[in-house]
Amino acid sequence: RKGTVVITGASSGLGLATAKALAETGKWHIIMACRDFLKAERAAKSVGMTKENYTIMHLDLGSLDSVRQFVDTFRRSGRSLDVLVCNAAVYLPTAKEPTFTAEGFELSVGVNHLGHFLLARSLLDDMNQSDYPSKRLIIVGSITGNTNTLAGNVPPKASLGDLRGLAGGLNGLNTASMIDGGDFDGAKAYKDSKVCNMLTMQEFHRRYHEDTGITFASLYPGCIATTGLFREHIPLFRFLFPPFQKYVTKGFVSEEEAGKRLAQVVSDPSLTKSGVYWSWNKDSASFENQLSQEASDVEKARKVWEISEKLVGLA
Ligand code: NDP
Repeated sequence: RKGTVVITGASSGLGLATAKALAETGKWHIIMACRDFLKAERAAKSVGMTKENYTIMHLDLGSLDSVRQFVDTFRRSGRSLDVLVCNAAVYLPTAKEPTFTAEGFELSVGVNHLGHFLLARSLLDDMNQSDYPSKRLIIVGSITGNTNTLAGNVPPKASLGDLRGLAGGLNGLNTASMIDGGDFDGAKAYKDSKVCNMLTMQEFHRRYHEDTGITFASLYPGCIATTGLFREHIPLFRFLFPPFQKYVTKGFVSEEEAGKRLAQVVSDPSLTKSGVYWSWNKDSASFENQLSQEASDVEKARKVWEISEKLVGLA
């Protein structure tokens, strides 16, 4: 049978390119988990996906109610869940003030980490019940966890500190809106959220891989300088960033190439190892990359997991 893969944020950029690459194999039914139904429908059409290959289901990761409703809708569809790709993200580098999710979490960490945390935890049971031979849970990471590159060291660097802001609920009222308890910085909030993504993947691996056989993985697909992720940035940055990545850092990848990379992590028979952070070299060959010290800190991963459980109402 065809595999069923849920991809969050499949309405643009990497998520859409991945959906397209998987649809073209004819081996996958893609559940596009998106906050904007019409945009997702147009996006699917624009890349030539055909009706029998995809279903759009509403998901707003900035609302835990919406996450729970998505899980419910998915279950009622009667499909088995074979692969889950946590891909959606917001990046707010020019925001002066924090904005918040429905529950009052700072938006970058709320959407990128906490929404996905509840989604992945809730759908783990569903994946467990599937009889698909190679089940995978993938959380898209970023270069911020990758200290052997220049881009991984550009300030403001990610740092979760002692997690006091996260423990306080990131609501910006009685506590800080940043995980480490510091003042709001949109670029750093994004990087921090990506470190949480990578820590969560590893904690899933430690807690569930042996018992479930599910492959847990993260990846850095390369710098896809053309996606909507940079939509909030100043115009000059948006103009200069793609050529800078192409000719200076040489980390640039097209959306199509990045989509093929993530599609490999979804379905390539050789990428079944669990607990791995995949990257690609300049010849587009995949390799197991090293994570930064903080992004591979076992104790921090456990703490982020436990605090996140409380925040999303699982503990
Ligand atoms: P895009 O902005 O193109 O895509 C992000 C997607 O997330 C969009 O589909 C967007 O939906 C969706 N999204 C945003 N907020 C929510 C929400 N509250 N609920 C549901 N969906 C939401 O960016 P990219 O494709 O570049 O980013 C995809 C992933 O790749 C991210 O995890 C990012 O961190 C990662 N990444 C990107 C890199 C790059 O260079 N671009 C480099 C490394 C990692 P909508 O279409 O409705 O706005």
